Amino acid sequence: MDDVVIAGGGPAGALAACLLARRGARVTLFERARLPRAKLCGDTLNPGATTLLARHFDIEPLRRHGRRLDGMVLTGPGGVCVTGAYGHEGPGLAISRDVLDAWLVGQAVRAGANLVEETAVVGPLPGTLPGSVGGVVTRRRYGRTATAPARLAIAADGGRSRLAQAMALARAPRRPRRWAIGAYFEGVEGLTSMGEMHVRRGYYLGVSPTPDGRANACLVREFLPGDGAWSTPERLLREAIGADGVLAPRFRRARIVTRAQVLGPLAVEAPRPACPGLWLVGDAAGFIDPMTGDGIHQALKGAEVVAATAAALMEGTLDALEAHIVYARALDHRLGPKRRFNRVLRRLVASPRAVAAAARLARVAPAAFGLVIRHAGDCRDVGRAAPGRADAAVCR
Ligand SMILES: Cc1cc2nc3c(=O)[nH]c(=O)nc-3n(C[C@H](O)[C@H](O)[C@H](O)COP(=O)(O)OP(=O)(O)OC[C@H]3O[C@@H](n4cnc5c(N)ncnc54)[C@H](O)[C@@H]3O)c2cc1C
Repeated sequence: MDDVVIAGGGPAGALAACLLARRGARVTLFERARLPRAKLCGDTLNPGATTLLARHFDIEPLRRHGRRLDGMVLTGPGGVCVTGAYGHEGPGLAISRDVLDAWLVGQAVRAGANLVEETAVVGPLPGTLPGSVGGVVTRRRYGRTATAPARLAIAADGGRSRLAQAMALARAPRRPRRWAIGAYFEGVEGLTSMGEMHVRRGYYLGVSPTPDGRANACLVREFLPGDGAWSTPERLLREAIGADGVLAPRFRRARIVTRAQVLGPLAVEAPRPACPGLWLVGDAAGFIDPMTGDGIHQALKGAEVVAATAAALMEGTLDALEAHIVYARALDHRLGPKRRFNRVLRRLVASPRAVAAAARLARVAPAAFGLVIRHAGDCRDVGRAAPGRADAAVCR
């Protein structure tokens, strides 16, 4: 029997598997896909995420496969545009998720975790106590179901976690019901070493440069029941870009080079991120939406918390009946403040009046947005820009 079974080989599951295996735990990591696999994402690691990864790994190979990110450009209604540099701690990194995730899983395997690909976790295995979990049930692609008993199961299987749903730990809130469409483009003009967030009435568009000179473009907007436009996602993405005063000229000669991917609803709430024998981490433990570009960092921070708490459980310094409560508290302590910041930002962006007021403020006090950009980027030195750079400025 394993000490720990983990569902999902994304950033949360892979880092948790690696840290636990390094501490001597017997870990099996089940991943539904065969790696490397594509994942709809803006493909950016903020400075907080690169710093965290560098604490555990030599990340030079990642830097070689990625592209340096020096900050963010924010545009809003009425043509307002603010650019904010990351602080001393920067830079961030633009890197494709198939590369990042496969590399992280490779680190887990190197540390001794047992990786089982093309095998989905389809449900929890009941534990000995009522309402507890004693492992997972898996199904191999085109294969049979099997059971994997363990002292602890970790759900790192993303926003639509099978385990979280089966134990009624997570749900999609009624509002917001935002969905995302993303694709890669060639021939986009004006890409720089900055990520871009273009906030518009009722939706936003994220654009980031890829290491091979392409652009990753994602549209996030509300999905209304009966909205047939979502059946042609590529057209929706192109139309949103084509109708945009800032982006249309830059995408005039651009060519879409991948199929558009669709994901939603994005928001997940997990008021109780653990029950006896099952702990949630990463998007499975709650996700707001990708506007702040910090989902990977949040997932990695969660992985550190889950690994440290699970190790204490394995080593016998935590009581098995209370460990899930300790974990839930530790997770909230580490992630709660940023989640609350993201929630406030999301509410502001959903209000046209607040967005208009923010646009006016940006013109007279761009430095305030420099702080927001560095806080969103999880820079530790939020109050200080990088040397030789304006911390924030209205774009020319
Ligand atoms: C449009 C968009 C843009 C984004 N842009 C950014 C960005 O630029 N920067 C950033 O930091 N964050 C971004 N995010 C957020 C980021 O993608 C997530 O927060 C992050 O991927 C969460 O990591 P995770 O490990 O929790 O889950 P995931 O990355 O979703 O990984 C879950 C893994 O579990 C596997 N899996 C799923 N179900 C099962 C199952 N039943 N059994 C076994 N395996 C399973 C999946 O194949 C996957 O490998 C974006 C999100 C969206 C939607």
